[in-house]
Amino acid sequence: SLYEHGLAKSRSSFGQKLNALFAHFRSVNDEFFDDLEDTLIESDVGVNMAVKLTDQLRDEVKLRNAKTKSDVQNVIIKKLIDLYDQNGDQNNQINFSKKGPTVILFVGVNGAGKTTTIGKMANMYKQQGKKVLLAAADTFRAGAIEQLDVWAQRDKVDIVKKEEGSDPSSVVYDAIDKAKRENYDILFVDTAGRLQNKVNLMNELMKMKKVLTRSIPDAPHEVLLVLDATTGQNALNQAKLFTKDTNVSGIVLTKLDGTAKGGIVLAIRNEMHLPVKYVGLGEGVNDLRPFDANDFIYGLFK
Ligand code: GDP
Repeated sequence: SLYEHGLAKSRSSFGQKLNALFAHFRSVNDEFFDDLEDTLIESDVGVNMAVKLTDQLRDEVKLRNAKTKSDVQNVIIKKLIDLYDQNGDQNNQINFSKKGPTVILFVGVNGAGKTTTIGKMANMYKQQGKKVLLAAADTFRAGAIEQLDVWAQRDKVDIVKKEEGSDPSSVVYDAIDKAKRENYDILFVDTAGRLQNKVNLMNELMKMKKVLTRSIPDAPHEVLLVLDATTGQNALNQAKLFTKDTNVSGIVLTKLDGTAKGGIVLAIRNEMHLPVKYVGLGEGVNDLRPFDANDFIYGLFK
């Protein structure tokens, strides 16, 4: 499947560590569980969660009388899948508007991969026959507008932009107006990852949302928080920051190709109870995949 291609890359991370652990598997003893705990910590599921998870797995292995390598792997797979399922909405689909343009707001700190993700996603939906519009509302970071413009040209989609330093909400205003008048299917809004300070940034995001809601009452239909998987537990702290002030509806986890820390998927799920909707597996236009928890977890042991 398409997803397999992505897993092939990210398998080098979390999965490889787990496989290394099982390569030396002899029996379920204390040493095994110590190593398992270390593996989970190194993979960035977080120390507390790693300890808790290892305890639960120890109980579960005993309860199920799992002895062979594959028995134990199955216990782990089931546990990880349960953990994902029990922590909220499974839905990895984009919530499309019933009528009029679907508006997706991208938030996250600088460098997380917002612009790149928009570029990839715009291409994906354009290929599906949707009429796509981009709004360059990150007017603060030098080069952000131009970078999005390059993606717009590459994807052959339209873009609304103004000069650097202009009011992001006015960009959003013009974009939503154009999207409605010219019957676009999707509007992707790039936003700034940093302003003078954090309060400003959150105020700016609120203002943009207000502009959107005034034009389309149920917009934005998605607020996707873009997180860089390579920052590990720091990504989790960013998630907490953004979800406090904005109604984040889903996560895009980028750079999963470049990290041995795939466990962050589980940590985010466990703590934020938000669905990971897409994962980024490279810088190229095709390196974005819808996230499927079952595939991801089963893929770890392939
Ligand atoms: P923004 O500031 O949030 O808009 O971040 P950018 O979209 O500019 O991305 C920052 C850097 O990360 C760029 O060099 C991107 O090419 C790179 N990047 C984004 N997503 C991925 C990914 O999934 N994998 C890898 N390897 N690099 C990525």
